[in-house]
Amino acid sequence: MNILTQDIKYLQGVGPRRAELLEKELGIKTVGDLITYYPYKYVDRSHVYKICEIDGNMPYVQLCGQILSIENIGEGKSKRMVAHFSDGTGIVDLVWFQGIKYAANAYSCHKPYLIFGKPNVFGGRINIAHPEIEDAPAEVRNMARTTGNLFEDDSDYAFAENNTGTASSATTLPNFRPFYNTSEKMKKGTINSAAMAKLTANMFKILTRPLDETLPPYMTERHHLISFDEAIRNIHYPTSADILRKAQLRLKFEELFYIQLNILRYARSRQLKYRGLLFTRIGDMFNGFYHNHLPFQLTGAQKRVIKEIHADMKSGRQMNRLLQGDVGSGKTLVALMCALIAVDNGCQACIMAPTEILAEQHVETIRNFLGDMPVRVELLTGTVKGKKREALLTDLINGEIKILVGTHAVIEDNVMFQHLGLVIIDEQHRFGVAQRAKLWMKNEVPPHVLVMTATPIPRTLAMTLYGDLDVSIIDELPPGRKPIKTVHMFDAHREKIYNLMRHELSLGRQIYIVYPLIQETEKMDMKDLEAGFVEISSAFPQCKVSKVHGKMKPAEKDAEMQRFASHETQILVSTTVIEVGVNVPNASVMIIENAERFGLSQLHQLRGRVGRGADQSYCVLVTKYKISEDTRKRIQIMVDSTDGFEIAEQDLKLRGPGDLEGTQQSGMAFDLKIANLAKDGQILTIARAAAQEVVDSDPNENNPVNAIIWRRLKELRKTNINWGAIS
Ligand code: ADP
Ligand code: MG
Repeated sequence: MNILTQDIKYLQGVGPRRAELLEKELGIKTVGDLITYYPYKYVDRSHVYKICEIDGNMPYVQLCGQILSIENIGEGKSKRMVAHFSDGTGIVDLVWFQGIKYAANAYSCHKPYLIFGKPNVFGGRINIAHPEIEDAPAEVRNMARTTGNLFEDDSDYAFAENNTGTASSATTLPNFRPFYNTSEKMKKGTINSAAMAKLTANMFKILTRPLDETLPPYMTERHHLISFDEAIRNIHYPTSADILRKAQLRLKFEELFYIQLNILRYARSRQLKYRGLLFTRIGDMFNGFYHNHLPFQLTGAQKRVIKEIHADMKSGRQMNRLLQGDVGSGKTLVALMCALIAVDNGCQACIMAPTEILAEQHVETIRNFLGDMPVRVELLTGTVKGKKREALLTDLINGEIKILVGTHAVIEDNVMFQHLGLVIIDEQHRFGVAQRAKLWMKNEVPPHVLVMTATPIPRTLAMTLYGDLDVSIIDELPPGRKPIKTVHMFDAHREKIYNLMRHELSLGRQIYIVYPLIQETEKMDMKDLEAGFVEISSAFPQCKVSKVHGKMKPAEKDAEMQRFASHETQILVSTTVIEVGVNVPNASVMIIENAERFGLSQLHQLRGRVGRGADQSYCVLVTKYKISEDTRKRIQIMVDSTDGFEIAEQDLKLRGPGDLEGTQQSGMAFDLKIANLAKDGQILTIARAAAQEVVDSDPNENNPVNAIIWRRLKELRKTNINWGAIS
């Protein structure tokens, strides 16, 4: 029997109860699943520090010494147990906030312990909260003895049995101890990291035969990768730092390779399966618009991108292209001109936006651009109902409506086109892949698809999130824009902020003030918004102030937005509902309250609401005085840069891909087991190239040299639920 498919519950140390936890919390059902539950870090336990050497900035350290005394401090919630621990070179406080009873029973004074934990400084003293503690093995005690003078007169501990001095410093401890993530529930069920380590150790006891290789020899050789078996064993229990690095490289490569293979294979099969509509003509609509209606010169980047898109449209293949462009780079115009190409070729175009406000604005913008051109543009959202909706659907199917703009309402089955040739999805990260696919079905030959994102995405993320799409980038803003000045201010600077506001208002400009809104504390957030509204209204009695938030009915919200857009009100106080796409060129100040609570791309999006006219614009990021180092860094990135791509890269570095906006909603797999898109860009590039080569050179998936690959891919697609989302 294959050990890998064996139920985890029969592994030594598991049993039915733990098996249930492992499955529920980590999806581990078999021994094979446990193999790829990799440690998230390793700690070098070959080194025992002296207390006099450590400080609060160090990562996890190992100390050897004894507890001198134990105190219970505080009452109720702040109750804690503190053990004063010494190795003769200094003292650290070991602190327990939880499990006090257990700890009090488990540990006693004046016994040699090996302790392990993260040192922190509090009130000038070094402490370690919830340390791991074990009896110090004799050889470690000896080691410590040669460096400090602990257990001086402690006759209880006969070191004699093994008293060979420093010679034994090559301890029997493994050099690297693996640490595994476990959930709160697991910890309650007594599966903490150490318990997981015992399980993986037990697993290797029964894995006596080498694990099957998962990449063909030509590939491991070419990329200097160690075998799967060696990698797996060393990823859990590395025998040296060097082999650990090799194991990581091997497994990261493999993980990224198979994801890319899946994506590229999918893109290819789509290419083979679907013929593309041929849009060879550039006709009256496009030319008429270009020569007579275009209010300004296209930027070089806009021209290039339109050419790239048109090349796709006349290639005979279905276009699947991602258009990336920073906020304000003029994507709407590109979208419109591409829609006109579709119209010139006898087809309809559909533009899908993530919110009603945005859809409405697109319609308005597009109608303004088109002026008196004979191209009918209509809006379809959830609020278009009854007779109006019926009439609209009729005109859509008989082809009178050439460009349909809408929210996800356009996906509904009863929305039928006469001949849909181009689908443009704005702000794609809010739509799932499945939704994207649904639009294709609206025409016999699937329409061309253009996905636009206003949140620039780092290259590595794009390769994984949109790895099946070709990419066009608008890397140039329309001329004459002054870079937005961004400043960081504290709550206490309120008067300064008001002065800036007064100045801008006196020039006839308008102002946005945005408050964060996160669901869990929605009530509190509303209070912030309400309080802010009252405060602003009384501080600026001569102004009219609009208030917009997500709890309002769409019609109310739109009416209020409209009042601001038409300059009836001068200040708009809102939550993030204005984040996407809203265009009021006269607004010159964006004030973001509690800026620390926003993601960087979100801040960048918000900031992009100003700076849309020729005037100098400002963005004020307001935080409380005390902020974390991490927050300070993030705010500084915003102050220093107005380049969305750079900000996205930095954000990825700081936060990791799991937290990036768009990755959750997108319905894409993001729980990479070992690779990190922020750090492993180079491996990703190589893995993608390798995958592309396999797809190109073995289109029928039957070359024997790749047999291992195709078998493995099948296995992965079966076992990993998330993979379905990619294809
Ligand atoms: P985004 O890429 O964020 O969707 P928009 O399409 O909303 O940007 O464009 C931002 C603003 O820039 C709009 O007011 C638009 O009319 C204007 N714009 C677009 N292209 C140009 C251009 N080539 N020259 C000058 N202004 C332009
Ligand atoms: Mg836009």
